[in-house]
Amino acid sequence: MDIANPSEEHLMLREMVRGFVTEEVEPQALEFDKKEEFNRELFNKLGDLGLLGITAPVEHGGSGMDAISAAIVHEELSYSDPGFALAYLAHSMLFVNNLSFNANEEQIARIVPLVSSGEWVGAMALSEPDVGTDVLGLSTTAEQREDGSWVINGRKMWITNGCVDEIGTPADVVWVYARTGYDEKGRVEISTFLVEAGMPGYSVGQKIEGKTGMRASNTAELVFDDCIVPETALVGEVGHSLIHMMRNLELERLTLAAMSLGIARRSLDMMNNYATEREAFGKSIRDFGQMQKYIGESWAKYRAMRAYIYDTAANMSLGKAGHRLDSDGVKLFATTAAKEIADAAMQVMGGYGYVAEYVVERLWRDAKLLEIGGGTLESHQKNITKDLSKDPDAINR
Ligand SMILES: Cc1cc2nc3c(=O)[nH]c(=O)nc-3n(C[C@H](O)[C@H](O)[C@H](O)COP(=O)(O)OP(=O)(O)OC[C@H]3O[C@@H](n4cnc5c(N)ncnc54)[C@H](O)[C@@H]3O)c2cc1C
Repeated sequence: MDIANPSEEHLMLREMVRGFVTEEVEPQALEFDKKEEFNRELFNKLGDLGLLGITAPVEHGGSGMDAISAAIVHEELSYSDPGFALAYLAHSMLFVNNLSFNANEEQIARIVPLVSSGEWVGAMALSEPDVGTDVLGLSTTAEQREDGSWVINGRKMWITNGCVDEIGTPADVVWVYARTGYDEKGRVEISTFLVEAGMPGYSVGQKIEGKTGMRASNTAELVFDDCIVPETALVGEVGHSLIHMMRNLELERLTLAAMSLGIARRSLDMMNNYATEREAFGKSIRDFGQMQKYIGESWAKYRAMRAYIYDTAANMSLGKAGHRLDSDGVKLFATTAAKEIADAAMQVMGGYGYVAEYVVERLWRDAKLLEIGGGTLESHQKNITKDLSKDPDAINR
């Protein structure tokens, strides 16, 4: 049994995406990284393949696939272009999946077709200039007016797909988390709003330039300045968003881990081929023990991350929370493993590894983000330790 391709359908999906990556993604990856631009045209082709609404139920206009399928697509895209894969993740996991499992019928019926086709680009805005890990400290507020509409005020930082082009056109629709009050114990209450381009007071503060990696995805600061949204923009009940935020974070962490797997596999591939072709001191460099340490250890790490990622995916039911121990665990392990494998590849490839044309340099830069975005390594360590104190039996099950 192959844990990464547990059914014929999964294998077919992988082969389809792999073909698309070879034909369409790989030829543009270097150029869009250099230009620091998001390839909107290529993104729309993912819509034609049914991948933008991959986990949205079929009856809502999505493809109705599972967490394993989502992991496969992220792994395959990231093998070639992690920056482009990150833009895909922000749209399909952070926006479309969130919407499909948490919004009401009207919101789903109206918006899922637009985002599944690629007509609209979606984003999710949680982080702020002064708040990242400390989610409950968010300062963006939403207040309801007498006529039922809401006024949102605040800034959101680091938002992938926050703008869709070089002139700062804002995302067509953003899933925005805002503080709407405090409960009787003084705990913050968070609500979700669907903010659409053209709504008054919603704009791009800046496109963030000069990122270390993930340059083929746009990252923006978004501004909500007395932003007025209709009553129908509220998702779910007022103050109840923590539950669906946590639920969606689990899928986000799994798919970020799957992106790490793509980086690891490509890096391993590159260093393995190079070690055969390159000669020094009259022999292939793969005959040197120190090169064998890089290749051998990278193989073992790659296989371990692959098994943990697809095991976690197999146990994850979309739209249901309860997998935090492993969604945090797999991201904690896989992201650092990918960074180490990309680093080993660069070392094996010497000077060639250090230049863009040989790919590993880009993967090495992209890998670092995965230790920060969607939860830092430290937040995963904290969550795992907390969850194991609540459920110590998880270790012996
Ligand atoms: C390219 C990119 C894309 C992103 N895309 C999005 C997006 O689409 N949507 C979105 O909402 N956000 C996005 N983010 C934001 C990302 O999720 C945050 O950067 C991340 O959660 C960390 O928050 P922070 O940067 O504010 O760091 P902080 O939370 O300020 O952390 C700084 C350091 O302090 C440590 N720290 C904080 N609290 C603790 C603690 N309790 N114990 C131990 N250490 C702690 C952290 O681990 C870290 O090392 C993106 C970020 C980047 C760089």
